[in-house]
Amino acid sequence: MTVRRLIPSIDLLLQRPALSAAVGSHGQNRVTDAARIAAAALRSAEERGEPGLPATSEDAATWLEGRVLDDLNRLFTPSLRRVINATGVILHTNLGRAPLSTEAIARAALIAAGYSNLEYDVDAGTRGHRRAHAERLLCAVTGADAALVVNNNAAAVLLVLTALAAGREAIVSRGELVEIGGGFRVPEILAQSGATLREVGTTNRTRVSDYAAAISERTGLVLRVHPSNFRITGFTERPRLDDLAVITRRFGLPLVEDLGSGWLDADGDPAPALADEPSVRESLRGGADLVAFSGDKLLGGPQAGIVAGRRDLVDRLGQHPLMRALRADKLTYAMLEATLLLWAQPSTRTRLPVHRMLLMTPQDIEARARRLDAALEGTPGLRARLIDGASTTGGGSAPDSSLPTRLLAVEIDGVGAAALEATLRHGDPAVIARIQDEAVVIDMRTVMPEEEDELAHAVRRAGERSRKAFTMKK
Ligand SMILES: *Cc1c(COP(=O)(O)O)cnc(C)c1O
Repeated sequence: MTVRRLIPSIDLLLQRPALSAAVGSHGQNRVTDAARIAAAALRSAEERGEPGLPATSEDAATWLEGRVLDDLNRLFTPSLRRVINATGVILHTNLGRAPLSTEAIARAALIAAGYSNLEYDVDAGTRGHRRAHAERLLCAVTGADAALVVNNNAAAVLLVLTALAAGREAIVSRGELVEIGGGFRVPEILAQSGATLREVGTTNRTRVSDYAAAISERTGLVLRVHPSNFRITGFTERPRLDDLAVITRRFGLPLVEDLGSGWLDADGDPAPALADEPSVRESLRGGADLVAFSGDKLLGGPQAGIVAGRRDLVDRLGQHPLMRALRADKLTYAMLEATLLLWAQPSTRTRLPVHRMLLMTPQDIEARARRLDAALEGTPGLRARLIDGASTTGGGSAPDSSLPTRLLAVEIDGVGAAALEATLRHGDPAVIARIQDEAVVIDMRTVMPEEEDELAHAVRRAGERSRKAFTMKK
């Protein structure tokens, strides 16, 4: 008999206890739809000649029931999930960049749960401005006269170019026409803004005189871009910002710097990996009229784009119609303000997870790796050893910087590194780790302290699982 003939009617199927319970929680229509889809899937499995299909009506009903429940379950599970980042890449673009501080989370929860003065002047009892939030703090920590917040740094750069250079030329060095992770390409953003790209210099060398020669009555602004994840080495030249500022001032043109990472450098920070990272404060002091940077890179806050600098220019951005489309929401303001408050004092800065991770020494990390090693003791077939390695800041900041770390290299007898890595990734929570020299390596730098027990449990379980799969194959 063909499977097709074993498929019960939808009505009959929905009378099964598990499915009638599902109807109770999801409603008749949704479960009926899922049952139709399951029946169609069974028919097409038969057409494809798949092996192991149900042989009796009861088997078919069980098959369909399982399929319906799985589908409903998958449909109503959030797709955005927490993962454990054991890669050692602090601002991992694919893993959501900066984890937030407890303070920022608490602030977001407070503002999210009720109403707020987002656009209300409580003192005057009149309409207020969203833009007022975070501005005072941003100015305090960067030294800028004015600042505004949009959705992300790509939006910040787009807004600057549109408001200040649409229909005119934006001068950019050929060495800075870069693509940054996630499809941010300087020439494409420029094209979207309605400004015309005026390239100057060469890929490896651009001088102040190249900029000066390109300036004309068509020029709208000069843009400098932090090359982020890309570095040109060897025979290179890039003008100092202050030398370039002399020229742009002479012609009365805005000098804009897209810094990307948003290192604030409030009062000389100790993170050695970032010694060469240009800070927002230095850039403004060096003569940039506007600086654009991300909220969720080295700043360690929520996804946001910040433009800081000259009051008259920031006001022009704020009044541009595009501002309405790019504006940040109240939760972003809440989280950003809490983050900036932590930045304002050196003693509270280490409450930002990104800061803590940057400052962790190989000794700190080794101590944590040893704890993990001890917790893995006795897992059948598991071998672990401590090795030297490198963590990275990621997120297109400090491109050359690698931070010395200590890794726990984990191997399971008879199981390849790729298989173990995949098993870790498929766990709940997923553990994302790297493979190095045929072993899965775990960098505790990016594992949150409260995740340590969970990580040990996950590695142990993955070890047991991948070994079971291996012995079954044998
Ligand atoms: C990261 C980065 C961007 C894009 O910032 P988002 O916040 O991801 O939109 C733009 N420019 C530079 C130099 C960057 O490093």
